[in-house]
Amino acid sequence: MSTEILFDSWDREHLWHPYTSTIDPLPTYKVSSASGARIRLADGRELIDGMSSWWCAIHGYSNKRLIEAAGRQLEKMSHVMFGGLTHEPAIELGKELLKVAPPGMHNIFYADSGSVAVEVAMKMAVQAAVSASGSHKKTNFATIRSGYHGDTWNAMSVCDPVTGMHGAFGTALPVRWFVPQPRSRFGGEWEAADIEPMARLLKEKSDELAAVILEPVVQGAGGMWFYHPQYLRELRRLCDEHGVLLIFDEIATGFWRTGRFFAWEHVGVEPDIMCIGKGLSAGMLTMAAVLTTKAVADTISRGEAGVLMHGPTFMGNPLSCAIALESLRMLNEQDMASRLEEIEGILKEELAPAAKLPGVEDVRVLGSIGVVEVKRGVDVGKFQKECVRRGVWIRPFGRNVYVMPPYVIDEADLRRLCRELVEIVSDESKY
Ligand code: PMP
Repeated sequence: MSTEILFDSWDREHLWHPYTSTIDPLPTYKVSSASGARIRLADGRELIDGMSSWWCAIHGYSNKRLIEAAGRQLEKMSHVMFGGLTHEPAIELGKELLKVAPPGMHNIFYADSGSVAVEVAMKMAVQAAVSASGSHKKTNFATIRSGYHGDTWNAMSVCDPVTGMHGAFGTALPVRWFVPQPRSRFGGEWEAADIEPMARLLKEKSDELAAVILEPVVQGAGGMWFYHPQYLRELRRLCDEHGVLLIFDEIATGFWRTGRFFAWEHVGVEPDIMCIGKGLSAGMLTMAAVLTTKAVADTISRGEAGVLMHGPTFMGNPLSCAIALESLRMLNEQDMASRLEEIEGILKEELAPAAKLPGVEDVRVLGSIGVVEVKRGVDVGKFQKECVRRGVWIRPFGRNVYVMPPYVIDEADLRRLCRELVEIVSDESKY
C-alpha cells in the first residue's frame, strides 16, 4: 500500500502542524474517521485513543447525542453576534455552568479558545486591579514554574520560560514573576517551605501584581505534575492578605479529568477568576469561558473603561453553546465520580509496573490522567511510529509519556493502551 495514503506529501509541504518545523516535520498520520475511543487511519488501521485529542474529546468521538444536539442547533442558527443579541443556548449553558462552578462565580465571559480565555482572564485581572487600587502600576502577574496557559502573547508570557521557549521571543514578551513549582506531591506530605518563594514575592511585589495565575493541582502541558492542594490554600490566604487576585486555569483540569468536576474541589478554596475550555465543548467545536465573582465584575465595571474590554466575533457561538450544554447534561446524568474512580484504578494498576523500569523516573496517576516520566527526552516521531504499529495513540512531550483517554473507553482498550505504553517504555531503543 502506498505511504501516500497515510502520509500526505502536500500536507507535509504546506500545512503547519502544532510546533512543527517546515524543514524537518514530524510525520502526521492521516485520519479518516473516529468514533468512541478509536481513531481510524486512512489505511484502515484503528488506534485506541489515549489523548482525547489534547484533553477535549471527553465523551469520545462521533457521539450521537452531541451530533444530534449540533444538528438541532444548526437548523435554527449556527451563529449570531453576541453584541446586543442573546439566545437560549448561551443562557441555558451559563445557568448549568454556574451550578457546577465554585459557588462564588457569578459572571461568565464566553471565549473561543483556551488561550483567548487566558488573555481575557488576565485582562479582567488588570482592569479590576487598576480599578480597585487606582494605580496603573498594579498590572503584572506571578505564576509558578512548569505551567502552561496557551500560545497567545500574554498566555505564553506566563508559561514556563524554558519549556515555553521565552528566549525565542526576546524582549517582545512581557516579563512576569516566576517562583519554583511546589514540589510537595498530590497525596504526599505537605512541605511548608514550598510556599515560601511565593510568600516572599507577594510581600515584596504586591503593589505591581494584578494576579497570580496557575493551574490548580495538575500542571499539564508544562510538565504533567500533580502538586499538593495545601499550596493553593496557602496561596489563597496570601493573595487575600496582599490584595492580589487569584486565577485558576482549569482549561485542562475541568470536566472530571482529575476525578472531580473541577480541580479546585480537591482544594476547597475558590479563585477570583477561573478559565475553562477543552472538555467544555467535548471536542466538537472550539469553545472556552472565563468565570468570575460579582465583586471582580463590578469592580471592572466601575473602572476607567466602565466595561470589560473584550468581545470576539464568535463570542457565545450558539452551536458551541448547544453542544456544551448537551455535554454537561450527559455528564450530570452519569455517576462520573464512580466512572473516574474506575479509570483511575485501572491506570494505577496497569502503569505501576513501569515504576520498576530502569529508564523510568516516576509514575503518577490522578483521575483519568496517567503519567510515566522517563529519565531522558523522548523522540516523539520514533515513539509514535511504535504506537501506531501497536494500534494505540499517545503523544509524549519532553520526558513525559502520558495518557488521558476519553471517559467512554472500555476496560479492555484502556488496559491495552496502558500495556502498550509500558512495553514501549521498557525498551529504550523505541523512544
Ligand atoms: N491552559 C491550559 C492549562 C491548557 O492546557 C491549554 C491547552 N493545552 C490552554 C490553556 C490553551 O488552550 P487552547 O489550546 O485551546 O488555546
